[in-house]
Amino acid sequence: MQNLTQTAQETATTRRGFRPSRPEVSALGLALAVSLFIMAAHNFTFWHRAWIVFDGNLRQVAGWGIAVWMLTVLMLVLFGFRWFLKPMAAFLLLLSAVTSYYMDSLGIVIDREMIQNAMLTTMTESKHLITVNFLTHILIWGLLPAAAVFWVKVRPTTFLSNLWRWALTVTMVLAVFATALFSDFKAYSAVARERKDVLASYQPGAAIGGASRYAKMMLKAKDVVVAPLGTDARKGPLITAAPKPVLTVFFVGETARAQNFGLNGYARPTTPQLAARDVVNFPDATSCGTSTAVSVPCMMSNLTRDGYSYDSGIRQENLTDVLRHADIDVLWWDNNTGDQGTAGRAADIRRMTAADDPAACAQGECTDAVFLKPLAETLPKLTRDTVLFIHMIGSHGPAYYLRYPPEAEVFTPACRTAEFADCTTDEIINAYDNSIRFTDQIIAQTIDTLAAQSNVIPAVFFLSDHGESLGEDGLYLHAAPYFIAPETQTHVPMIMWLSPAYQQAMKVDQSCLKSRAKETVTQDNVFHTILGMMNVLTTVRQDSLDLAGSCRG
Ligand SMILES: [Zn+2]
Repeated sequence: MQNLTQTAQETATTRRGFRPSRPEVSALGLALAVSLFIMAAHNFTFWHRAWIVFDGNLRQVAGWGIAVWMLTVLMLVLFGFRWFLKPMAAFLLLLSAVTSYYMDSLGIVIDREMIQNAMLTTMTESKHLITVNFLTHILIWGLLPAAAVFWVKVRPTTFLSNLWRWALTVTMVLAVFATALFSDFKAYSAVARERKDVLASYQPGAAIGGASRYAKMMLKAKDVVVAPLGTDARKGPLITAAPKPVLTVFFVGETARAQNFGLNGYARPTTPQLAARDVVNFPDATSCGTSTAVSVPCMMSNLTRDGYSYDSGIRQENLTDVLRHADIDVLWWDNNTGDQGTAGRAADIRRMTAADDPAACAQGECTDAVFLKPLAETLPKLTRDTVLFIHMIGSHGPAYYLRYPPEAEVFTPACRTAEFADCTTDEIINAYDNSIRFTDQIIAQTIDTLAAQSNVIPAVFFLSDHGESLGEDGLYLHAAPYFIAPETQTHVPMIMWLSPAYQQAMKVDQSCLKSRAKETVTQDNVFHTILGMMNVLTTVRQDSLDLAGSCRG
């Protein structure tokens, strides 16, 4: 820091004798130096990920880095007016030292969930995290720089001049930020939106963002009264009389679109394994939204697409709660972005990690193969009627190539970067189709595992949350406003597999179901169909929306 401050003052000799001179800097100089130190010393993971996501393009990494650096400067100058500057700088240095230790040394992302964990963690659990290495790291990279901040002098100015400089500084920083951002806005906005792991590794922004999102969530959830739903739910005579526990595995799919699903007539064999099994395919299924955050809570809700909104969704119980009311166990296993606020009350939530199957997570992110081992281990232990929700990562873009292991790359050459500009449309589609084919493999393997065991009476339901644009009309990815969304984003694959034991116990006529499957269906059917599949009797279940309703004997 001393090297960065050139304006050492010569007035350090006092009446009491010689004392080392305290360098004097302007407020902006201090903010720039502290933020530069944070960007350089506390952001290894951030730079590493940026380097990978921009494929080593120095110009893009530099523009991105400058924009994020300016965010850090802005935090300091916005909240660091006059006497607040030094405490703010010390706070950010200490916070970044703590979070960078977890991020860079242990690979722990400090996000909303992590803040939530920290708030709920007991002292007994957290004390194991405070090690000698941790304390040394905080001392060298947090406390010493913070002490240096208090040691240097900030050049005194009058209040008015300070105010004027402050406004000018904020404007300048914003201008540099905007210039850097718009030097390649397309690439940067795509990374900010689709590669949340890059910004999630930015210190101290990620932790501050996580804390404020957590506070916002808590404030919002505080005044929400969740209205009960289907409290009259109970098991019907079929499931009660079933000789073994009934298990429905509900694959909540991700970004799979109907057009690229082999079972729906796609020219490529993207679903060879499901085609070889006796599944019921619904070729004309439509999603509720074009993003996970809309579609997942919407399909869990008994509200139809016309009546659904985020707010109305969180204000009442959903499918998971009604299953619970009927004394059915609910499990939610997640390899995606969580249950979207749907399962917390009723389900036992399990976040899949590399610990579940290191081989399935060898590329740094877990493919959906991570579910298979835990499933095989759980099946023999099930003793109660259960719905297991499996929230897949499916075909989540833009890094489609990370959704399947290299040996599952059938359609080549496949785009192996998240930077679409570096791939041809064919390469992007190849990678996407490989991810669909891998989803086919995961569901088929699950069906085989279920068919081979004798502990439960199994059924499988698969439905994608929304589709994807793969360059049609220049559009990529998803989340287009629904009213202008192309069919590729709203037409989704959906299948059912009912084991012979299930068909018998639950008296379902599969040929009837297969002819019914040709009709137009939507995510509005999910709530009623799953309740029907589990033979749950309740006044909130509408027979007309239960797809198997008219095929049950
Ligand atoms: Zn999604």
